[in-house]
Amino acid sequence: MPFGHDMVHSLATAVDLVNTSPATGGEDRLDDLEKLAEFVDRWQISGVRGLGAADLAQVRALRDAFHKVFTAPDQATAVIRLNTLLSETRITPRLTEHDGHALHVHYFAPGASLGEHLAADLGVALAHLLVEGEWERLRTCSAPDCERVFVDESRNRSRVYCDSRTCGNRMHVAAYRARRRA
Ligand SMILES: [Zn+2]
Ligand SMILES: [Zn+2]
Repeated sequence: MPFGHDMVHSLATAVDLVNTSPATGGEDRLDDLEKLAEFVDRWQISGVRGLGAADLAQVRALRDAFHKVFTAPDQATAVIRLNTLLSETRITPRLTEHDGHALHVHYFAPGASLGEHLAADLGVALAHLLVEGEWERLRTCSAPDCERVFVDESRNRSRVYCDSRTCGNRMHVAAYRARRRA
């Protein structure tokens, strides 16, 4: 995929954020502050201080907004939904070096809340993906009991399952058994 490390990391963060939602078929994995703190650790989100109930509510609302971008029926709808999200977000590009990372751009405004930070950085990453004409890479898993989202990074945009180690294997085993029975 023709995207840099920052972009890949932001897209992966967006995918994981959406997939914490029960709307994707599992338990709610972002329903208390402890899980929110785990999410921040997991994705090494910088500059986060003193998370509270307002942060949790904001990030959960953002999760739904990003989910709607992933599940848009067409590119035009994805653009409208992402523009709505971006229009509600303060965005301030800033070059930065921190924690041993090479110089890169942060898009969240100084003093931004966690929700604003995520809306800005992940929203801009998704905006670049749409601008590159890669909207189709935003996918929902094809396994029958799974609604998890993913970004298809395969060269020929052929990936249909959320995670080859779980849904992919599961579906391959089912197909294998079906062939054996036939
Ligand atoms: Zn950074
Ligand atoms: Zn799946």
